[in-house]
Amino acid sequence: MSEMSEANKDLLEKYRKEVALRRKYHEQLVELKGNIRVLCRVKPVLKEDQHEEGQSVVVTTDPNNESALSVLKGQGRSHNFELDRVFHPQATQEEVFQEIEPLVTSCIDGYHVCIFAYGQTGSGKTHTMEGSTENPGINQRALKHLFSEIEDRKDMWTYTVTVSSVEIYNEVLRDLLSKDGEKLDIKINPDGTGQLHVPGLRLIEVKSFQHIKKLLAQARRNRITFGTQMNQHSSRSHALLMITVLGTDLASGAKTTGKLNLVDLAGSERVWKSGAEGERLKEAQNINRSLLALGDVIQALRGKEKHIPFRNSRLTYLLQDSLGKGNKTAMVVQVSALESNVGETMCSLKFAERVCKVELGHPTSCSHGRPGLQGLNRHTLPGVYSVRLNIENIADSLVYRS
Ligand code: ADP
Ligand code: MG
Repeated sequence: MSEMSEANKDLLEKYRKEVALRRKYHEQLVELKGNIRVLCRVKPVLKEDQHEEGQSVVVTTDPNNESALSVLKGQGRSHNFELDRVFHPQATQEEVFQEIEPLVTSCIDGYHVCIFAYGQTGSGKTHTMEGSTENPGINQRALKHLFSEIEDRKDMWTYTVTVSSVEIYNEVLRDLLSKDGEKLDIKINPDGTGQLHVPGLRLIEVKSFQHIKKLLAQARRNRITFGTQMNQHSSRSHALLMITVLGTDLASGAKTTGKLNLVDLAGSERVWKSGAEGERLKEAQNINRSLLALGDVIQALRGKEKHIPFRNSRLTYLLQDSLGKGNKTAMVVQVSALESNVGETMCSLKFAERVCKVELGHPTSCSHGRPGLQGLNRHTLPGVYSVRLNIENIADSLVYRS
């Protein structure tokens, strides 16, 4: 008996080492691929989008290069972008999800993951994140995958899945799973860990995919209802679905906590260009500020900067523990291919490029997340940088910041 128990102990020890190694290699692999990935999805031209007859399509993808995208800016000039992955207009919900799936698996392994949908209103953010009943988006596919993985691992692990859902409108946080959209605050946890928590936030334990579907429907209904009460449209708020996966290894008792944050961002269009005033202007400024803050955070993370400006918006503050080092993020930038949207398309792609193209070895004071300084390249002389200032970018960043 004692020999057996010794042998068991030995095996358990070996198994733990293997698990630790697997996690280490997985982590290294994901780091090589990039912990932060910027994807772009081009919306197909739908009949209802064609307000003017014969509008031309100005965005083209390259069938031989999954990272390239080109925008025709008029007068024969075009702008080429290179991102981590570009989805052509005919790409299916399943194809988009395939790119996200490894991140969902990591979440079960105990990583924190954020997936954002960015873009102007109507560009397909909600379609990508939620989709329809017949053709569900990332949310439902991720949850389905999560529950089927949990089922596959049930001999070795047990998992508890909890869900919460909030919306951020004008920098105010509301609980989408409460009856009346209770307002919430983000506080430092009194347990001394320095972690953030949201007192009063409803965390609902879910046992099945069907249960989650009901909660998703409730959150969607609430978002619309609170939206009408405030006479606002849902495209002006950020909607978050936050899934926590607590795992316990049945053999060793070891615990893991993974988080999956799925974020349908507010529309990125710059409405003050059309002379918005009052409430509408305030909303637009809040959206702009928070999207800019998100861009700054992702750029700082991708550039491995020491200071990450999480505190500059509710959204980044709330997601602080999921965005930091060792976590994984995917930003799905949605663009319209139509000529009439070329201004917003260029802005969205510049945002994508800004968070995508960070090649600096270490931070410099002038590179601090500002659009317009994005052509910063490290040259062969150590410590010497050349700054390519693109007047168009600077003009754009002035619009953004004013
Ligand atoms: P957003 O959330 O960015 O405002 P939506 O997701 O609501 O935009 O998309 C606007 C409309 O376009 C919806 O009717 C949606 O079903 C449709 N749509 C968006 N993307 C696609 C796509 N890839 N394929 C088919 N229809 C799409
Ligand atoms: Mg939407």
